[in-house]
Amino acid sequence: MANIVQTCAKCTRQFLIIEQEQKLLKEKGIPFPTNCSSCRQKRRLTLRGAERMLYKTNCQKCNREIIVAYDPSTVENMILCKKDYDQYFLENDSIIKDPLPEVSL
Ligand SMILES: [Zn+2]
Ligand SMILES: [Zn+2]
Repeated sequence: MANIVQTCAKCTRQFLIIEQEQKLLKEKGIPFPTNCSSCRQKRRLTLRGAERMLYKTNCQKCNREIIVAYDPSTVENMILCKKDYDQYFLENDSIIKDPLPEVSL
């Protein structure tokens, strides 16, 4: 397996999917990303900025009740409480489908 050069579907910039990332995605059955990291980052910030609608849900790791800014039924990402969210990035390095954090009120 070699690194793959992908073209971002949004800004048409080229970005790299490294071998480890490909392996991880395949293992998890996640399709390769079509947006570069900066477009993905932007999308995440947009999600984070939309704090008008708040939803109650449970942390998918510790099951604690948390408040989030996205409709849990429409997002495919994991939703984690602050603690498990931070923990997630300590345990997983190269991640495409980042979990979403709870909202701090
Ligand atoms: Zn892009
Ligand atoms: Zn938790």
